[in-house]
Amino acid sequence: MTRVLVTGGGSGIGRAIAERFDAGGWEVWVTDIDADLLEGAPRHWVTHVCDAADEAGMRDVFAAVEAAGGLETLCANAGIAGPTALIEKVDLEDWRRCVSVNLEGAFLAAKYAAPLMKAAGRGSVCLTSSTAGQHGYPNRAPYAAAKWAVIGLMKTLAMELGPHGVRANAICPGAVDGPRMEGVLAREAAAKGMTREAVYAGYAAGTSMRTWVEARDIGEMAFFLASTAARYVSGQVIAVDGHTENPDPKP
Ligand code: NAD
Repeated sequence: MTRVLVTGGGSGIGRAIAERFDAGGWEVWVTDIDADLLEGAPRHWVTHVCDAADEAGMRDVFAAVEAAGGLETLCANAGIAGPTALIEKVDLEDWRRCVSVNLEGAFLAAKYAAPLMKAAGRGSVCLTSSTAGQHGYPNRAPYAAAKWAVIGLMKTLAMELGPHGVRANAICPGAVDGPRMEGVLAREAAAKGMTREAVYAGYAAGTSMRTWVEARDIGEMAFFLASTAARYVSGQVIAVDGHTENPDPKP
């Protein structure tokens, strides 16, 4: 059996990634900061309550993974949207927490997964970035900066791990229908003086396919990247976004 670890797997995209690997017959390990969400995970998943940005906690999780026999796929997915504000209104503490969860969380997961995968001589590291990291994102500078940095992290992982048979890629989801974006929609509607529906429609209008993405679409891509069909795919930034042409143009 092959083993996958998904951070932030208690809900949303991480949960969908975990479900896809489960359906594919993998052994699923999931971490999340929210114990209640993990309570709702299937009983046969291995769950750990852990802040992705907490090094001691992440070290313990990966020690348990190593004791279980190692890891074939890491999906470093935990992330938060951070503050909704123009740059001059962003508090340093909010900036730091957003960058910490999104970037340091990915770094810590990769740091502790890398030795396990190098020892095995194979593996797939899949980081969840965002179209915000590719294009920028008005009112969300710390998030866009962190997600751009996640791409730099991934490119470097691909270089460092490739000679050991380990691949690294980043998925950039577009706007995904789900609980997190409801909060984002509400905050953006308030910040811009728009209705929630108008903000929602604006996101869809910014894509070629005029739709939102579903979390399962990200699960499918993460699963493909872990498969032998993707055995020569590494160092890539893969948008699953219906082709975002003009993300959120209205600050
Ligand atoms: P979500 O809020 O539905 O799920 C995120 C999960 O991560 C939650 O279960 C939450 O409890 C957990 N989490 C939050 N902070 C954590 C921490 N410090 N340590 C461990 N777990 C933590 O959000 P989502 O939409 O599923 O987002 C998942 C990833 O996808 C994030 O990295 C996000 O930035 C990225 N993303 C989301 C969208 C979108 O439209 N929803 C678009 C692009 C990228």
